[in-house]
Amino acid sequence: MLDIPGFTPVTPTADIRVARHGNRAKCLQRLIRMDLPVPQTVAIPFATVREIAEGQMPDLATLIGLFEGEPMLLSVRSSSEAADWGGPNAVLNIGMNDAAHGWLSKTLGHAAADKLYLRFIRSFAIEVMRLDEEPFDAAKTPSEACIIYEEEIDDPFPQSIADQLAAVLRSMARAWDGTSARLLRQAKGAPGDAGLGLVVQRMAQGMGPGQSGSGVVQFVNPATGEPKVTGRYMGQAMGRRDLRNSDKAIYLTRDERGPSLEDLLPEVYGELLKVGARCRKRLREEMQVEFTIDQGRLAVLDAVRCPREARASVAIAAALARDGIIPRSEALLRVSPDTLSRLLHRQVDPGAERVVLARGIAASPGAAAGRIVFDSAAAQAAQSRDEACILVRRETSPDDVRGMHAADAVLTERGGTTSHAAVIARGLGLPCVTGAIGLHVSHKKRRVILADGRVLREGDEITVDGSTGEVMEGRVATTEPALNGAFGDLMAWSDDVRDIGIRVNADTVADATLSRTFGVDGIGLCRTEHMFFESGRLTVMREMIFAETGADRAAALDRLLPMQRDDFTALFSLMSGLPVCIRLLDPPLHEFLPNETDGIRSLAEALDRPLSEVKARIESMQEYNPMLGMRGVRLGIALPEIYEMQARAIFEATVAALAKGVDVRPEIMIPLVTARREVELVKRRLDGVAAKVRDETGVDFDYDLGVMVETPRAALRAGEIAEQAAFLSFGTNDLTQMTYGLSRDDAGRFMSAYVNEGVYPEDPFGTLDVEGVGELLLLGASRGRKANPKVILGLCGEHGGNPESIAFCRFAGFDYVSCSPFRVPVAKLAAAQATILAAKKAD
Ligand code: PEP
Ligand code: MG
Repeated sequence: MLDIPGFTPVTPTADIRVARHGNRAKCLQRLIRMDLPVPQTVAIPFATVREIAEGQMPDLATLIGLFEGEPMLLSVRSSSEAADWGGPNAVLNIGMNDAAHGWLSKTLGHAAADKLYLRFIRSFAIEVMRLDEEPFDAAKTPSEACIIYEEEIDDPFPQSIADQLAAVLRSMARAWDGTSARLLRQAKGAPGDAGLGLVVQRMAQGMGPGQSGSGVVQFVNPATGEPKVTGRYMGQAMGRRDLRNSDKAIYLTRDERGPSLEDLLPEVYGELLKVGARCRKRLREEMQVEFTIDQGRLAVLDAVRCPREARASVAIAAALARDGIIPRSEALLRVSPDTLSRLLHRQVDPGAERVVLARGIAASPGAAAGRIVFDSAAAQAAQSRDEACILVRRETSPDDVRGMHAADAVLTERGGTTSHAAVIARGLGLPCVTGAIGLHVSHKKRRVILADGRVLREGDEITVDGSTGEVMEGRVATTEPALNGAFGDLMAWSDDVRDIGIRVNADTVADATLSRTFGVDGIGLCRTEHMFFESGRLTVMREMIFAETGADRAAALDRLLPMQRDDFTALFSLMSGLPVCIRLLDPPLHEFLPNETDGIRSLAEALDRPLSEVKARIESMQEYNPMLGMRGVRLGIALPEIYEMQARAIFEATVAALAKGVDVRPEIMIPLVTARREVELVKRRLDGVAAKVRDETGVDFDYDLGVMVETPRAALRAGEIAEQAAFLSFGTNDLTQMTYGLSRDDAGRFMSAYVNEGVYPEDPFGTLDVEGVGELLLLGASRGRKANPKVILGLCGEHGGNPESIAFCRFAGFDYVSCSPFRVPVAKLAAAQATILAAKKAD
């Protein structure tokens, strides 16, 4: 093997490494090993390029001496460690001088030789020597261009290939060190000290007598990933730039719209197909191949990973695994959870023009366009007209849930990743942007004032992208979700691999039905309060809240009981054989009460009370800090009849479901626990209700009682709490809120500033804070397990759908995570990836 300091000829056996020579050099070596017709290539490693930038050239005479042929023309391309870190543009035809021009005039003719030489002088002057472009616009011949060059630089145009090459290498090496290049690659994940390699390659001319030209080919459709030969070829052309800028390019495969390479050079076309098949098999990837045809002979210049959209990357990974080219585990690792999430939702068309009006927190993925509405009534009216609408609110409350059902997307001025709008929207699969910066919503005046003072009114069209947090003007084109066979394969393979359960946060039969189509391991959180917001129920709920006597409250609860029982029976039947975890009522009661005059008036009518009295009652129920007030288990202790009604509904539904042959053993979960005694008190009452229902029905059944660990104290005291519980489910939304002392509904206002300033690495409501909240999770889990080794551990906060958080839970030995229905596929893939990576690490 040749051992030349500073560079390495790329041969099948040379020691070429991605970490030393870059991705392109390694890929070219693989192509050479596959016996593809790759022109002679030399790789310059990162270390040498660094020296070049500092002014120290390697032995270029030796390097040039490695190449053979006449005329001696070379190209230099960048070779960074990861293909998407970029690098300076390629420089072609180095070595073009008066002698080469004379030689080419004889073989290609004067015109072609002139064109090549003129082009090279221009690109050398402008891209390498960084001269102004303008003076060269006037040059019509190489000699004119040489004169301009000399005038500008006070030196003749270099005729020596070594001088030209030295200038090119120096310019590329220094460009890599430029600030903007560094920032660009760092944005793509490159480390600060990422190196640049260069590859010097003998030019395979796409210009010459007979059939000569350049082309680019790929073997799949970049949008769908389906097998299809696509690309372009152009006779008498050189490099990608020629292809991009010309309308003379022809089709590759036979096409009735015009001439094709397949017609022109069927043999070369056949060879190209073989190159594609070989690359796919040996490089284990769909590649895009750059080639030239030199007088009918094919040369492969380069191959890069074929660019692809989300749908195509899933299809390609699945097809490679199905064809046995890569193992299934690798196919799973090749699809990012983010890509999968894009498949599940409508997306803004990447090529669409857009004017961004505002940016906020990307709270629920997907995109939708529609007319602005400001309340539920207007959203429902738009829905009845079959008109798409976007519900715009300062923030949402349970009162807006009807409107959210009717709307196509939600935009709020306030809020964050786990605020009301975000949680409900994710459950509904509705695009949502919260905490939109600089936006001011006036419900009364029915208008939105943007940060720059522009005003949007009801009926104006906007597009909301909940995947990026952008709010755009007008109707921006979107692409439909794509759940094809490849998606199904990935889900099935994820299920085979993952070793942590994925449950769903589902409150309704519709949620549960959807999540069963994705395949889940059960319901991890049914927030029963959402069941009370359906029309017909809210008024009864309000009557219950307003009841002054125990008898009045009992009467209202008696009316709610059958409604809840029917809900639970339906859920149990749908989820037969899988666990269903029902959380007892959690939010402060005033959340069920109206806060606008119209709503208060209709409540007064329903209750047959004076408006002033109803208003005063609502006011008296307001709390200074409702999220830390009368909610969760505190309701269960202070107003035990509510939990008793819910428990009865659950047990009666269990009996009804068992009678239908459904396999059910309900899980009941107590929210916002802080102390063991709370669990004991609720447990005693629930056991009492269970005993009564068994007695009344003569049916025996069992249930599991669990505790939501969502206060720091519950995590700290998890040992004694676990003694009373069959399972602990960590509610990381509240736990994050309380650990940070940070309101989940207001965090959106300053979160971007905090993340931009590096105070927090990420929004802790989106990605679990493994250092702080995570420590509480580890502590709670280990204390809980120590006191009760059989206790089941789960997580049901919004982090249950976040890939990093899922990996953490798996590492912490949790049995399951639970997330909103549309995040189930992403969670399954993330769980499978965490399992595969952990196994790889252990190897
Ligand atoms: C939580 O706090 O993490 C949780 C799941 O409950 P909620 O979001 O309903 O408060
Ligand atoms: Mg909670």
